[in-house]
Amino acid sequence: MKKAKKIWAGICATLLLTLAVAQPLEPAYADTGDELEQQLQESAERKEELAEQIKEVEADKTRALEAKALLDERNILLQQEIDTVQKQIENTEASIAEYEQKEAEQYELFCQQVRQEEERGTVSYWSVLFNATDFADLLSRIDFINEIMDYSQRIIDDLRQTREQLDTSRQELVKQKETLDATQQELEEQITAAAQLVAEYASTQEGLEAMQAEEEKLFKETEQMLKDWYAQNGGTGDIDATSTQEVLKGLIWPSNARYITDKFGWRDAPTAGASTYHEGVDIGAPYYSDVYAAQSGTVIQAGWNGGYGYSVIIAHDFGVATLYGHMNDYYVSVGQTVSRGQVIGECGSTGISTGPHIHYEVRINGEKIDPLPYLPGYIAYW
Ligand SMILES: [Zn+2]
Repeated sequence: MKKAKKIWAGICATLLLTLAVAQPLEPAYADTGDELEQQLQESAERKEELAEQIKEVEADKTRALEAKALLDERNILLQQEIDTVQKQIENTEASIAEYEQKEAEQYELFCQQVRQEEERGTVSYWSVLFNATDFADLLSRIDFINEIMDYSQRIIDDLRQTREQLDTSRQELVKQKETLDATQQELEEQITAAAQLVAEYASTQEGLEAMQAEEEKLFKETEQMLKDWYAQNGGTGDIDATSTQEVLKGLIWPSNARYITDKFGWRDAPTAGASTYHEGVDIGAPYYSDVYAAQSGTVIQAGWNGGYGYSVIIAHDFGVATLYGHMNDYYVSVGQTVSRGQVIGECGSTGISTGPHIHYEVRINGEKIDPLPYLPGYIAYW
């Protein structure tokens, strides 16, 4: 029994480990759009990071390939040099063989000559010693032998000297080739190392690309889940937005009211302290009516905001932000993620205001733009 328990514990541990590893590849359980948005954002960040890593490893691989190409080129030149020296060695060896042959021939010639002279009885030591008529004759006969010998000897010596010089050259060439061979061996080791590096980078890249594909799959799944969530819970969010224009196009009315009581731009200040350049539009809505987030995003301001009274600012993607002013109350806090259409407060007349309305601003990277194009079906009331 004890043993069975241990085995079971082992299996559980293995399962847990497998799950822990596999988890990041599956969209985690989430029951709100906020959580899904968060997951999608995290997935997008991981995708971006992976893309950056792939770019880096690709650059590394390219550099390694370039380095290898240079080494290969050097090796080709070195091989040509080695081939040239090898040819020189072969030529020298052929010359040496030729001279050795000549030496042998010369020696053979000399022997033949001596044998012939001996047969004729002219240069035999025997005849030299015993047929000499007198001492002078003896000396001249010896001289004669010496002359023949000297002559052959000189030829043989010349041949040998040339052969010895050739042999010295050959030794030098062999030494030169040995040095070149050693250099080539080193170079080939470097080439092997470079090729290995290229292979390593390629393998790393492959791994990262596989991770990227998995992350892409996870991103798509999370995106679908978020779409499904929005479909069930109202609103669709701006998850498909890929540009400022798309975020702007996705803006919805922040109120059920459709009256615009004051437009964007120059105007006469409606009350003391109000600006003469109107940086938003005023939506005439009743007290306590809902104020909606025009687009999903993150709350970056919530609370008292000078002349705006109680206001909320939401940062959306691609530098777009929206402001809702003069609210009676607000329901969100800074850092909170909100979804499109979420109620963020109630209409009021706080701050510098003459009556209940929503002062609505749209900003792109802080610059205030006319929100009217993004309020379809408005009723002009100014
Ligand atoms: Zn206003």
